[in-house]
Amino acid sequence: MTTQNVPQKVSLLERIQSASGGREILDPATGEVVGRAPEATEKDLDAAVARAKAAQPGWAARSDDDRAGLLNAAAEAIEAHAEELAVLLSREQGKPLNGPNARFEVGACVAWLRATASFPMDPEVIVDDESGRAELHHRPLGVIGAIGPWNWPMMISIWQIAPSLRMGNTVVIKPSGYTPLSVLGLVDVLNTVLDADVLIAVPGRGDIGDRLTRHPDIAKIMFTGSTPTGKKIIAAASETVKRLTMELGGNDAGIVLDDADPAAIAEDLFWGAFINTGQTCAAMKRLYVPDALYDQVCQALVEVAQQMPMGVGLEEANVLGPVQNRAQWEIVDRLVTAAKESGARILLGGDPDPQVVAGRGGHFYPTTLVADIDPDNPLVVEEQFGPVLPIIRYTDLDQAITDANSLEVGLGSSVWSSDLGRARAVAAQLEAGTTWINKHGAVDPRVPFGGAKESGFGLEFGTHGLREVSQPHVISW
Ligand code: NAD
Repeated sequence: MTTQNVPQKVSLLERIQSASGGREILDPATGEVVGRAPEATEKDLDAAVARAKAAQPGWAARSDDDRAGLLNAAAEAIEAHAEELAVLLSREQGKPLNGPNARFEVGACVAWLRATASFPMDPEVIVDDESGRAELHHRPLGVIGAIGPWNWPMMISIWQIAPSLRMGNTVVIKPSGYTPLSVLGLVDVLNTVLDADVLIAVPGRGDIGDRLTRHPDIAKIMFTGSTPTGKKIIAAASETVKRLTMELGGNDAGIVLDDADPAAIAEDLFWGAFINTGQTCAAMKRLYVPDALYDQVCQALVEVAQQMPMGVGLEEANVLGPVQNRAQWEIVDRLVTAAKESGARILLGGDPDPQVVAGRGGHFYPTTLVADIDPDNPLVVEEQFGPVLPIIRYTDLDQAITDANSLEVGLGSSVWSSDLGRARAVAAQLEAGTTWINKHGAVDPRVPFGGAKESGFGLEFGTHGLREVSQPHVISW
């Protein structure tokens, strides 16, 4: 793992980072300084909200076509800066340029902007008969407060920004304290085409997020992050009866049925679990496999996993990277250690480099597959959010479904089978916002996405997502 060819500075970075002061952001793969992130004060936040509030009526007064055109122009601006953004993202977040990682994330920003610009948002005629007529219109809400996590910082920001702007709202966005530069870079590029003050980034930590949540001039919070933080936001938002979209934590189950073909599904199973080195909300975090196929699925997964290089993100060969921060690395290490101590069988990995354990170098955790683990082991029932997959053996499918549904969270889930009819029957019994069949975590800007149970509420994407950032307004006569 060398960093010989790593560009030490990019011009985008020079524009967005603090000229002096600020907080050092370290590359999670190398410990090198990526840049210095500015930190907003409460006064800065209040000023940003005031500017976004002042800009909102003018933005809402533009035609819908105009706003859609500007989202398309924003997509073009990202394309023009794509590699610069991907390098910044890779260095700050840790994810490799290649594979379903940094370049893929920047590409997703472009795709989501274009798709969001294209969805129809006409008034709905609800009643039109001899009794009268009722139309449902969708108005802007005002200023949207967006708060995001560190795992997909650019893409999730776009998920919040694009529908909000399309509906005539303005946005104040607070990135995660771990990945502020990625979001500042993205916002900088978007602001080369957007009207002044319709999109303002306010970097800071939880206290700035809390103030944004309580701010009387913020109409709605779109939050993506952990369930514990989500609960604090729900409580704080009650003071001003704020609208909320909550995309929270998950612990997605995948269930393999006994008619699946292990060799055919192994690579998709792997990426379903290890996309972004496992640091994905809707990644598969526990896999239930029938006794009859257990050894074959385990073996096939080991073979795929062994072919996936992990290392510094800017090295083109790598498709897996470090865990983004030490706190998350400690969670992963604690859960794998607990699994080992319980007698579970480590098929691959589970042995972090002693230098890393001692806190030196990057936060790498080896790709880890854990077999013969109890369904109630902490590695199964807690969200590991790292490059580790527990594989649970089952003999009774109904029991596997019960176990899959047994947690408080329910973001995604998946069923793997050669028989679509059987897979659909199992899918219908799973408690989750999405159940994929023979894939996992595949999001699409046209298809609504959201959580069940403590994974949150509200939908993103498509026309459903546009409605969520609007005030419904019935006009009836
Ligand atoms: P986190 O909850 O620690 O932080 C998320 C954001 O909330 C950060 O910007 C943080 O600064 C801010 N914050 C912290 N305290 C706050 C407060 N009191 N008020 C307002 N804002 C506050 O989450 P994270 O560790 O950055 O992200 C990982 C988690 O996010 C995982 O649980 C993952 O499953 C979840 N996630 C969910 C989705 C989804 O779509 N459902 C997508 C990505 C990640």
